[in-house]
Amino acid sequence: MPRQLLLLLLGLSLSTYATEQEEQYEEVLNPSLHQQQNAKQAKEPTASQTGNPAAEIIDGDTGLPDPLDSIETVVAGAAETSEIAPEIAADSEAEAAWGALSLLNTELSPNSTATLDWYSGHLPGGFELATPVVVVHGKEPGPRVCLTAAIHGDEVNGVEIARRVVQNLKAEDLKGTIISIPVVNIDGLWRKDRYMSDRRDLNRAFPGDANGSTASRVAHSLFTSIIRHCDSVIDLHSGSMFRENISQLRADLTLPAVAELASHFGAIPVLQSIAPPGSLRGAATAAGIPTVVMEVGGPFTVDVSLVETGVKALRSYLSAIDMLPRSFFWSSPQPVFYASEWLRSRQGGILINKVTLGQRVNQGQLLGEISNPITDEVEMLYSPFDAVVLGRAQDQFVSAGYAVFNLGERRSIEDLEQQGEIIKQQVVEKNAEHMGLSKDNAKHSETNISSPAEQPAPPASSEEPPAESSATTLGEQTTPKPLPQGNEHE
Ligand SMILES: [Zn+2]
Repeated sequence: MPRQLLLLLLGLSLSTYATEQEEQYEEVLNPSLHQQQNAKQAKEPTASQTGNPAAEIIDGDTGLPDPLDSIETVVAGAAETSEIAPEIAADSEAEAAWGALSLLNTELSPNSTATLDWYSGHLPGGFELATPVVVVHGKEPGPRVCLTAAIHGDEVNGVEIARRVVQNLKAEDLKGTIISIPVVNIDGLWRKDRYMSDRRDLNRAFPGDANGSTASRVAHSLFTSIIRHCDSVIDLHSGSMFRENISQLRADLTLPAVAELASHFGAIPVLQSIAPPGSLRGAATAAGIPTVVMEVGGPFTVDVSLVETGVKALRSYLSAIDMLPRSFFWSSPQPVFYASEWLRSRQGGILINKVTLGQRVNQGQLLGEISNPITDEVEMLYSPFDAVVLGRAQDQFVSAGYAVFNLGERRSIEDLEQQGEIIKQQVVEKNAEHMGLSKDNAKHSETNISSPAEQPAPPASSEEPPAESSATTLGEQTTPKPLPQGNEHE
């Protein structure tokens, strides 16, 4: 049938478009790609020896969308959230009389547990279908922590983590409230699909628009009816496109409230990462609700040991902020901070991994091989520096340029903060370039955003982005090594 064929082709082309869009965003927020390639071309052997972030990371060749607005949002979030430390939010919560929780047209009395219905009202078919929201409203006052999972319908580790965290939680032991949405994207989960049925990525649609696309309407509904009631959000994800991650947090450590939040999850690795435009993490943080992403494993499958690590980390957080009684969930409670960098394939072919997730590797160590099935040419992928394998592609057919290994290098949180600021400024400048604005304009507009009239201007020394001309001196000063960062793909 020609009509069916046409529909099929249309579906395929939309699917391709969605994936391409994803890659573009990833390029914007993952400047390590260029750094990596530049480093190779310049024959500089290790990332740790490259000392010039401005020169290496800016390499405008990507077909960028228009994320300038979103970047502004992130920067605006910096100004807003820096004033709302979680302790303060928790204190004001505690001061208020601890009474009924009003959520989704329901009044929940203290010391109760309930499953509420969230109707996004925008699922295909035109009928109403409830998305379950599990709420444990504690006996005593405390913060309101929200868990979201399966915003991407193919990412199920987070669903299991949310279930395990909430299932044995007794309201009488809890100070504060847990609001858990174990399956945000029911539409995608049914079809085992990352995206929504309108082929859009729900995690690029926040904070959403009541009159926008389907994804945007669902995002708006979630954001206004639930997320705005949270003091902090932990958004659970997994690797995409047959990639898997060791359990880890992605957090923008340049924002004090987010850095504070990220420091309470026990010994789980924390990666500096600017939120992708339209992500729940970016939108919630910009609205004054510190948010981190927890990445666990890969799509489609459940990895029990990684799930257990995620559960342990979340329980550590709830204990650390005194929502649960202090416990021994985590023997070594210090988080480990990483800069991370994706290593990409130069050629297409069959990838065979030679390292496992979480493995420590030395500079020059063989990580994997990619064999071209036609020419029999084999590409060997070696680690460019001493690293921990934080993420990797599963053995599969890859194309040239595929992100294969996410390699982490330990850093201090101060290093990562500084690097995050530099990268933000570079992204702003790069976007300005693509929009035909001068770099001066980009700097001017960013300054306006980060220090609105009613707020005191930040101290020039820490907030001022490096001048272009100072790029060559950066590496010689106390500025830490260049920080790439990966969002593949939150
Ligand atoms: Zn995801």
